Amino acid sequence: MSRPQSRPSLLEPNDPMLRSWVPGANNPDGDFPIQNLPYGIVDGAAAVRIGDSLLVLQDALHAGLFSDELLAWDSFEEGLELPFLNLIAELPHDLRRRLRSELAGFFVEGSSVRARVEPLLRDATRAAPEIPFSIGDYTDFYASLHHATNVGSMFRPTNPLLPNWKHVPIGYHGRASSVVASGTGVVRPCGQTVSNDDGPPSFGQSRLLDYELEVGFFVGHGNELGSRIDIAKAWSHIFGFCLVNDWSARDIQKWEYQPLGPFLAKNFLTTVSPWVVTADAIAPFLVPGPVRGTDDPLPLPYLSDPDSRNVDITLEVLVSSEKMRAAGQPATLISRGSFKDMFWTPAQMLAHHASNGCNMQAGDLLASGTVSGPEKESRGCLLERTWRGAEPITLGDGTERKFLQDGDEVIMRGYCERPGRPRIGFGECRGIVQPAR
Ligand code: CA
Repeated sequence: MSRPQSRPSLLEPNDPMLRSWVPGANNPDGDFPIQNLPYGIVDGAAAVRIGDSLLVLQDALHAGLFSDELLAWDSFEEGLELPFLNLIAELPHDLRRRLRSELAGFFVEGSSVRARVEPLLRDATRAAPEIPFSIGDYTDFYASLHHATNVGSMFRPTNPLLPNWKHVPIGYHGRASSVVASGTGVVRPCGQTVSNDDGPPSFGQSRLLDYELEVGFFVGHGNELGSRIDIAKAWSHIFGFCLVNDWSARDIQKWEYQPLGPFLAKNFLTTVSPWVVTADAIAPFLVPGPVRGTDDPLPLPYLSDPDSRNVDITLEVLVSSEKMRAAGQPATLISRGSFKDMFWTPAQMLAHHASNGCNMQAGDLLASGTVSGPEKESRGCLLERTWRGAEPITLGDGTERKFLQDGDEVIMRGYCERPGRPRIGFGECRGIVQPAR
């Protein structure tokens, strides 16, 4: 392996003044400035995204661009050879910070290694990133008070919020095998549905297909079976964040969800955005965790975070019909909200998940549950946005939607913005509804 003659100095990638020589990286409306550097999997290899380009990390390895400090770790090179990010996510935090810093050194304006990096860059706008992790387990929470209250009031008008909700982060075990990358087609599921609350059911295609706008996070370092994760350290176990669309069949859900919670209404497909924005990149956008109302219970000690943090991520959902796309019409914005409005924080969700000794593992995906805010426009699923179909929304082609139709494309976007800082984006989480099979 050839050794570099000169090495770039270590940079603080969150420095808002850094600029990059990579095309598109300094675009103020772009998602991927040098301060972001999210990871993904492209053509079966770990890659980092910047501007309109991506760098396959193995290419940089073979070009001798990484430092001896990184190469000293066996799992570093091994991690770069895998078609998923699990080993990279599990590297000690110091090392992951060093990797991100060295990558920033490749891309910064005036970089001494630009001539060696530039030929390695690939066009990210034409790439089809894959699922970023080998996901052992996927868990979905229900952490938005607005969502839980809205949905609860539809299914149980007299009793919307169950007595446990403000004490325990409610969640369920989802299915990892059907978590897919953005762009994967969404086959309309079949299942049992009823016309009357008490049945009898019939089997057929879901007619009430919905999306759920969620934020997901991947576990880096896990915990041993039988041990717990201290709430004060929970944040350090989070490798990075993505957007999640928890596709949901409301008619199947309504019939099956009691007494054990969601099952086939949810596990037919879950879409994630492909570029994992690291917890390090998101650090400048942390905000204080939620302030509980005077009538709210205090969290139990194991959920009391001395440094309670949410993340201010603006989240959007857009929908387009087949007709709109054929006519070149832009997708219609359906909702816009923020992840900062969540009642339960990512650290609380993770600490709670491990609080019984359940072992979390690198690559586990935890999703927040539908992100809904206080306003109608910030409700993160059609069930709430159209109030179970009572208030249909109108798309750009003039057609109405209560729930999704075949051919509809759902696009989720997320980004962090703060004055004086480049915007950090998540890219897109997309899926087109296909007819039932
Ligand atoms: Ca969900």
